[in-house]
Amino acid sequence: MFDKILIANRGEIACRVMRTARRLGIRSVAVYSEADAGAMHVAMADEAFLIGPPPAAASYLNGAAILAAAKASGAEAIHPGYGFLSENAAFAEASAAAGIVFIGPPPAAIRAMGSKAEAKRLMEQAEVPLVPGYHGSGQSLAELQDAARRIGYPVLVKASAGGGGKGMRVVADPAALADAMAAARREAKTAFGDDTLLLERYLERPRHVEIQVFADGHGNAVYLFERDCSIQRRHQKVIEEAPAPGLADSVRRFMGEAAVAAARAVDYRGAGTVEFLYQDGQFFFIEMNTRLQVEHPVTELITGLDLVEWQLLVAAGRPLPLAQEQLTRHGHAFEVRLYAEDPAKDFLPAIGRLKHFRPPADSRHVRLDAGVREGDVVSVHYDPMIAKLIVWDDDRAAAVRRLRRALGDCELAGIATNLGFLSAVAEHPAFAAAEIDTGFIERHRAQLLPPPAPVPPLGLAFAALALLSWRGQEARRAAQSSADPHSPWHLTNGWRLNDDNRHDFHFVDGGERRPVVVHFRPDGWRLDLPDGPLTARHAQLDGSRLAAELNGERRSATVVRDGSQLTILHAGHVWQLTLDDPSLRSGADDDVDTRLAAPMPGTVVQVQVKAGQTVTRGQPLIVVEAMKMEHTIVAPADGTIAAVHFRTGDPVSEGQELLSFEAS
Ligand code: ADP
Repeated sequence: MFDKILIANRGEIACRVMRTARRLGIRSVAVYSEADAGAMHVAMADEAFLIGPPPAAASYLNGAAILAAAKASGAEAIHPGYGFLSENAAFAEASAAAGIVFIGPPPAAIRAMGSKAEAKRLMEQAEVPLVPGYHGSGQSLAELQDAARRIGYPVLVKASAGGGGKGMRVVADPAALADAMAAARREAKTAFGDDTLLLERYLERPRHVEIQVFADGHGNAVYLFERDCSIQRRHQKVIEEAPAPGLADSVRRFMGEAAVAAARAVDYRGAGTVEFLYQDGQFFFIEMNTRLQVEHPVTELITGLDLVEWQLLVAAGRPLPLAQEQLTRHGHAFEVRLYAEDPAKDFLPAIGRLKHFRPPADSRHVRLDAGVREGDVVSVHYDPMIAKLIVWDDDRAAAVRRLRRALGDCELAGIATNLGFLSAVAEHPAFAAAEIDTGFIERHRAQLLPPPAPVPPLGLAFAALALLSWRGQEARRAAQSSADPHSPWHLTNGWRLNDDNRHDFHFVDGGERRPVVVHFRPDGWRLDLPDGPLTARHAQLDGSRLAAELNGERRSATVVRDGSQLTILHAGHVWQLTLDDPSLRSGADDDVDTRLAAPMPGTVVQVQVKAGQTVTRGQPLIVVEAMKMEHTIVAPADGTIAAVHFRTGDPVSEGQELLSFEAS
């Protein structure tokens, strides 16, 4: 076995590989870009090497820099993770030439399976069933039109070199084929440098069922059962599970054997996934991925095996630890992909600081593979995945309950995430009933992506009580450090005899004002909310966790404050409010943060003020664009712009001061 390996990746997969390495007593070497100097995978590694500037092309895809780091560190092998260089045959060859083991299949197998058309030709020879289609070398419009007619519409145009759903177009009408082909070609050329196309019959309601295979250098090859990855958005996996619900054992065996045949056909070695579409009891090969998949943990949870350990064993020349007859599975597992993205804005990637991150606590049934920690920044440069949440239980119904619970218990704030969307999928009755296929999300769109609703009174109450509690804590701290800690002026419950003492909160919710008036009572508070009054007692704030008795019922929530932004997390709901504090508006508060810095790396797209100009609180000053999202920087108080440091079109990095501002 190796003493030291280098992980040519970042985020959750780099951390996940390192955990296995550590368990096996293998030292880990991380590589990182300038944007990742403080990243979790760097902190976890035994050693770390800087390999280049933030763009992936200059760092995580920079094979030469990675090999130089491997040499300098003395690593004997490189684990490529997934994405980046994991399916790059030239990099696998360069590693071997440098005397470093590439933890993956032989370059020839990567090449053969890297082209979907070539893979299909091989699978045909191995008698693995294919989706009816065309994968010939003739690429003229006439040839493809002719093929499409034979296949029957609707057809799916695919890029042979494709991945990640790029270059894929559904064509329902023969007249639309030429345009779809041209668009797919353009997309494929830019993304993969290869515009070879293939055609497939477009299946209307398939399930995506894939088989995990493993082969060693001693002639052994096995399948580790299947995963169902049918819950997809735009042909990209969102939730995966193992085993595939309702799959007959005979079909499972048949598919497993077909997948092993596929692996043998290319002299495979290591971990691989053979992907099929499954419809009406029939399955069809679509492609093979020659690497570890994002969703491999569901296989680990039902088999009790560590697939990264198997990869390391095989790469070190050892035989597979188990034969096909020895492989068993138990229970049911789900994985969800937690992303920093905004479902309300068509899933636009979100970037910024993860202000609050508490994963669910149940470690017996829940596994969290995270790539970022609380306080880390999700940057514009890479995939915005925060973590994968994986749950396990004895059967599917129990695992669905675990999943719902785990999503409800997972706390994320400071950045938009798909947590609420994932909860909506998990809560859907059709999901629980395993009525799933690749059209699930589109079909249930209205329920899964409801239009944004106002924050309910309960959310407003939590926000107001948390703010009061914080204020109380601050007052108590002030009292303790003052000369007369028992002075009545330090009383923190706000209650005064013979006086209806009140506090007004001005919340803003999606542009709407939502005032809350809190009246202090001897035994608690009365809250005047938009829908009527509510009595609150025994409010207790522990960190960000708030518990209170509301109208006689014990309730709790997590409330996270980031400047004037409040995030309230309650039973799987995520509510956002802005606190409009009049003391800030008048400029009377000394706390006003007058440093106007870029919230993330991006480009200045608009400058709306000049040096010397006087501005009023809330006035837009400068607009920064990052990942197609615009962020407007506004005046934090009334004041003057002392200087403007950037012009339209200038790139900015996170934290750079954009303007000098002086509050009046
Ligand atoms: P990529 O390599 O770009 O991810 P795949 O060939 O793996 O593309 O397909 C991704 C997804 O697209 C599948 O899981 C499935 O949902 C959908 N898909 C692919 N081929 C077909 C088809 N012939 N009919 C219907 N859906 C398909």
